[in-house]
Amino acid sequence: MISVVVPIYNEEELLLVFHTAVADALKDIGEDWEVVYVNDGSRDSSLELLRGLQSTDGHVVVVDLSRNWGHMGAISAGLKTARGQAIALMDGDFQDPPAVLPELVKAWREGAQVVVAVRRSRQERRKVLAKLFPLFYRVLAALSDYPIPLDAGIFSLMDRRALDSINALREGNRYLPGLRAWVGYRTSIVYYDRQDRAAGDAKLTFLSRIKYAMDAITSFSYKPLRLSFVLTSCSLAAAAALGILAIVSAAPTASAGFGIAAAVFTVGALVLLCLGVLGEYIGRIYDEVRRRPLSLINQVYYPAEAVSAQPGTQFEEEQAESEFRAA
Ligand code: UDP
Ligand code: MG
Repeated sequence: MISVVVPIYNEEELLLVFHTAVADALKDIGEDWEVVYVNDGSRDSSLELLRGLQSTDGHVVVVDLSRNWGHMGAISAGLKTARGQAIALMDGDFQDPPAVLPELVKAWREGAQVVVAVRRSRQERRKVLAKLFPLFYRVLAALSDYPIPLDAGIFSLMDRRALDSINALREGNRYLPGLRAWVGYRTSIVYYDRQDRAAGDAKLTFLSRIKYAMDAITSFSYKPLRLSFVLTSCSLAAAAALGILAIVSAAPTASAGFGIAAAVFTVGALVLLCLGVLGEYIGRIYDEVRRRPLSLINQVYYPAEAVSAQPGTQFEEEQAESEFRAA
């Protein structure tokens, strides 16, 4: 069976057309398939629409989360629920075109365990984002201690083995494109043209994107920590040089006063920067120590009947634990 996992947050305008497009792409695949829609606490009629879809299409699984957990939380719940031998992952707004799914499946049949869809081009209504995304991928590549494919988001397909490895990872601040590269396995790349969202507004906020970018960098690189070390040495050297100048120079003047003030501010800024970088890591260490689940499932609806998970299941925690033991 092939599973397609799709996070959904307030996508009522798109859901039905989207599902039709996915069903169309998968109908000739020659394999059983399911689409796992994760309702990430939508406030519109998305959940009702999904339940409706399920009553007419036996390929639909609906995971209803306890609240809005954000893109990654929704994705992890979907990845845990998917039952397929190959699991594709995509956004529900047509930015990852459903028509590319058969190509991912083909690459998997040809022996790839991980198939990464890489953006050949990108259309984005908001021009700032269109510029920032490629920049982000390049900064990440430069900083990362481990090679991560450029211009690849969540759109991908993994076989059961690769997915189980990812599901068993314990870290809470997940940057999936990075983890997907990190677990390894035979990987191939499929190129596609990323579309603009077909309707509605982007559901991710700018701040959540910044958090995601920070997760990516801090979980795959220690270089920012080293940067703070380098900056500290530089400011120490500057302080030493200024100290020597203060000793050897003649009577104090107004300009020397300004110089000292400037030095104080510079050092202050550097210290703050270093503290900020440390804070980024410490915040994440705190997250990891608490080991809170990435998301909580309220209910899972399978096509035939509604099967409910234990209310408030510490889903991430316990499942990962048992899978980890099993592995
Ligand atoms: N999404 C989600 N939870 C959120 C925000 C978004 O499940 O809190 C879903 C959304 O419905 C879409 C996908 O994640 O299917 C990508 O979101 P969006 O298109 O807003 O992000 P972008 O493509 O602009 O990065
Ligand atoms: Mg989108």
